[in-house]
Amino acid sequence: MPETASSSCAQVPVGLLTCQATPYLKQLKTTVLDCSQKPNKQKLYEVHLQDTGGQPCDFGTINEVEVKNVQRVGTSHVHHTTAPIPVGSEVLVKVDWTRRFDNMQQHSGQHLVSALFEQPEYGCDTVAWGMNDKRCHVELNKVPTQAQIQEVEQRLNLYIRRDYPVHITFTDQKPATLPADYVGPNGVFRVAEIMEDLDLLERERLEDQGIDPVKVPGAFDTVKGMFHLDFNPCCGTHVRSLKDVQAIKLLHTERVRGGNCRLFFVCGSRALTLLEETYTLSREMGTVLQAPGGLETFVDTIVRTQKSQKDMFKQLKVLWREIAVYQIKEWIQLLEESKAKSSSSEGEDEGEKGRLITLHREDADVDYLTLLASLLQKDYDLVQGKRIFVLSTGDRKEGGAMTLLGKDEDLIKKVAAAIQSNVDIKGGGKGRWQGKASKSWDGLDAAWQAARAIVEA
Ligand SMILES: [Zn+2]
Repeated sequence: MPETASSSCAQVPVGLLTCQATPYLKQLKTTVLDCSQKPNKQKLYEVHLQDTGGQPCDFGTINEVEVKNVQRVGTSHVHHTTAPIPVGSEVLVKVDWTRRFDNMQQHSGQHLVSALFEQPEYGCDTVAWGMNDKRCHVELNKVPTQAQIQEVEQRLNLYIRRDYPVHITFTDQKPATLPADYVGPNGVFRVAEIMEDLDLLERERLEDQGIDPVKVPGAFDTVKGMFHLDFNPCCGTHVRSLKDVQAIKLLHTERVRGGNCRLFFVCGSRALTLLEETYTLSREMGTVLQAPGGLETFVDTIVRTQKSQKDMFKQLKVLWREIAVYQIKEWIQLLEESKAKSSSSEGEDEGEKGRLITLHREDADVDYLTLLASLLQKDYDLVQGKRIFVLSTGDRKEGGAMTLLGKDEDLIKKVAAAIQSNVDIKGGGKGRWQGKASKSWDGLDAAWQAARAIVEA
């Protein structure tokens, strides 16, 4: 027995699978044709059943064993299961119906969205489509206008209300878009077809343009007496008729490569889920923003909050400047007092003797240091001689910013080294040494002492 299960000619080929023909069937009995003895890298076993399938793939169980993935290989199908299944046994296959029905709603919805945008009045062809857990998108070769998007959304939901049928039919014309390894079962190819019963107004509109809707090539099905809205090769599972798509909500667009555009949308229960999530979020936002008026008042509330925040920042800036000026005036007074004391004995300029001035302010930030430095250097011209300022901010337990100011570069270097041997701080710079203590201000007092010993020696 090989590690990989071999395909078998007894398999029902992809295109004619029960899940494709009767997608509303939630379970079926079938036979195990083959099963790998050892699991693959994902610890899953490959099982070949006579019948089943789905795209994007179904999940579910074979007997009670979980199916994690189903892959098409040519027109065969391989199930990836969490345990081996005895070959030759009859098994009960149960589909994860919630996932299957969601796939059906999104997939039929996508066919309808693409079909409408392809109409001559919009001229936007679908070049790709995608689906994740929350949303689907079609990639269109042209960007539709906002007015067109609104009109299409109305038409989509009108067609759903009218409950147009979705037929699965077959053609012997091999579609150009089919993967190379896909060979049509019995030479025929599966097609999903959405029929449109053009209303009188629409017929009149076309006739006004000189178009006889019945004579548009391939558009009118004389047997069914309806128009082809969509006629596309497809392997997927589809709803019986559009009422099961329930609703389609077109969302936003995104520009992508080469002038294409991704249009996002949700169908069916996903539309309700999105509404539920958005509504819950808006209720929570109402509480956070203190805007009990609800959604409609959010923008006003946020604009008001932003304005008051801006005003507060302005006010804070003024206040911090006032604090800085008070701080500097305090230093000036201190310097004058000590100058008065020393000049009475020596007659020497205080600045020449060397003086260390320290400040640590827990509630301030790096902007305060920049402001102080600018005032000290320019407006008050207090950075002179051998005078050194050691200024720092931030919570003692969290660390913060430090600035050293002084005229004497050598002295600044020595002071910085003394501080760095006491505090865990990185920094550098000429004229204005700037540093950052990223852990804490542990050792700051000892650092001041060491610095004072150097400057005031
Ligand atoms: Zn399809």
